[in-house]
Amino acid sequence: MGRTSKDKRDVYYRLAKENGWRARSAFKLLQLDEEFHLFQGVTRAVDLCAAPGSWSQVLSQKIGGQGSGHVVAVDLQAMAPLPGVLQIQGDITQLSTAKEIIQHFEGCPADLVVCDGAPDVTGLHDVDEYMQAQLLLAALNIATHVLKPGGCFVAKIFRGRDVTLIYSQLRVFFSSVLCAKPRSSRNSSIEAFAVCQGYDPPEGFLPDLTKPLLDHSYDPDFNQLDGPTRIIVPFVTCGDLSAYDSDRSYPLDLEDGSEYKYTPPTQPPISPPYQEACTLKKKGRLAKEIRPQDCPISTVDTLSQ
Ligand code: SAM
Repeated sequence: MGRTSKDKRDVYYRLAKENGWRARSAFKLLQLDEEFHLFQGVTRAVDLCAAPGSWSQVLSQKIGGQGSGHVVAVDLQAMAPLPGVLQIQGDITQLSTAKEIIQHFEGCPADLVVCDGAPDVTGLHDVDEYMQAQLLLAALNIATHVLKPGGCFVAKIFRGRDVTLIYSQLRVFFSSVLCAKPRSSRNSSIEAFAVCQGYDPPEGFLPDLTKPLLDHSYDPDFNQLDGPTRIIVPFVTCGDLSAYDSDRSYPLDLEDGSEYKYTPPTQPPISPPYQEACTLKKKGRLAKEIRPQDCPISTVDTLSQ
């Protein structure tokens, strides 16, 4: 596969490099802002699950805060530095990371919390959805500690079977909850974004890090949200509908007549989790899948036990 083939297959990947964004995800946040004016009046924001940092780039350019720390970016992975962005490397589901973030906003709450977190997808839909929901709830828990009243929370969701349970939880804290699908998010993906505006926790609510918002011991019957308890939130597509379709391949010369020129990635990840696998592959030491048809009969017997 040539280095230009991804440019052809994924127009937003190509445009991200050409516009200096570290990842194509930048367009998702920009298109969400086009629809919901997320950055209006915002001076302090938290970017959870931020690496390689394109959302942090957008935030630091679009919001009005000054100096280091008006954007706090958190991720498991190390991220190349960005001006005005304070970085915390850690797991947002861990108490120690949550405390570090919260400490930063003590006495000076945030206007906006965003979370584009995605677990390593296993392909087992139920497991992936569950992991995604756990990330979102960890992010929501942090948001309840740092957001100012009226603040906004935007988080990636997988529109799976149990998504109404998540909407119900979000509606407890925000006056408006919508599900938004930016044009740059592939139609073929169940990914969407919960856009929660007007932070307004129930009277007497005290944020508590020791109690997850949704824990493992919840009554499974509670999951069957139907009848009056079923929450349906509006679904909004955003980004100009005539904008590039993220599921289509485009010729390398764009419609405006501009000639194609290869652009290298703006900022490759500095310590990606797949690095070890790449090194092993180069050395020919990556374990290969053993298929039964490739094995001598005696081994097949052993494998199938
Ligand atoms: N919004 C980012 C951007 O624009 O560059 C892209 C985010 S990427 C889709 C998802 C990120 O979630 C990955 O960098 C991954 O390391 C991070 N992540 C997944 N689980 C996490 C966790 N428990 N704590 C912190 N970060 C996590």
